[in-house]
Amino acid sequence: MRKIALEEHFTTPELAAYVARPTQSDALFADVERRLADFGALRLDMMDRTGIARMVLSVTTPGVQGVRDTLEAIRLARNANDFLAREVSKRPDRYAGFAHLALQDAEAAGRELERAVRELGFCGALINGQTNGHYLDEDRYLPFWERVEELGVPVYLHPGAMADQPAMFAHRPEIGGPIWAWTAETAAHALRLVLGGTLTRFPGVRIILGHMGETLPFLLWRLDSRRQFDLGETLPPEALPSAIIRRSIKVTTSGVCDPTALAATLQALGEDNVMFSVDYPYEDPDIAAAFIDAAPLSEEVRAKVCHGNAERLLGL
Ligand code: ZN
Repeated sequence: MRKIALEEHFTTPELAAYVARPTQSDALFADVERRLADFGALRLDMMDRTGIARMVLSVTTPGVQGVRDTLEAIRLARNANDFLAREVSKRPDRYAGFAHLALQDAEAAGRELERAVRELGFCGALINGQTNGHYLDEDRYLPFWERVEELGVPVYLHPGAMADQPAMFAHRPEIGGPIWAWTAETAAHALRLVLGGTLTRFPGVRIILGHMGETLPFLLWRLDSRRQFDLGETLPPEALPSAIIRRSIKVTTSGVCDPTALAATLQALGEDNVMFSVDYPYEDPDIAAAFIDAAPLSEEVRAKVCHGNAERLLGL
């Protein structure tokens, strides 16, 4: 089945110092770095082999969100977007771009998103989690969300490192990484947008979560049920978290090649809200492609998951 993949990463020579290291193995990491820097045969041959017609590319975590100096982060983000635009222009049939943004400055991030969408032809943005301890439901980001809604492009909320390491991860560094903490962090970040009112205030905004929705599709009933005990002040009492999630959040299959999780997610969110992705080069594209090609789905639903939903959402 023809596929579009949208959690697929790269880096630039300038951002090489801002690549998170998810493995202790030098050999594994060297291979990841080689693949992140490649836009040629290594990536294209893999895409041909696995039926990935098109990749929407994004800067790997943390990118400029790991830069302390705001002006430097803004400069590097702009360079990264220009770099990606040049690569996409060489193979516009195979690649597309998500903007890389310096969320240290919400107004500047909004302006850069507009430039990336209107001038560079990008189809949204990918954000690598929190930035210097700030989360996207904070008031400082209101100008950014206004711009996102106006442009009508989705924002992929991708894992990044936690701002600090809570005591529950003490002496268990493996739990503090992609195996669990990145999921917990990203799900909590998305819930801040749901319960904090961002997605109610900006009903046109569409968020994409990877990793089969970072556990949220499996928690819809509980989110609605427990919210009765803690209404907070930001949502009207009748607003159900599950309804906001079903309307505003789309998910990808990146890094979760499990037919049971896929079936549950399709049932929880609906067949128009789930999209194929790999999370290249951190996950194996052959495994991801074989998984979706063989998943027990009707051919109509498989086509939606593999390419139709992404085409519609991203205007590809
Ligand atoms: Zn990723």
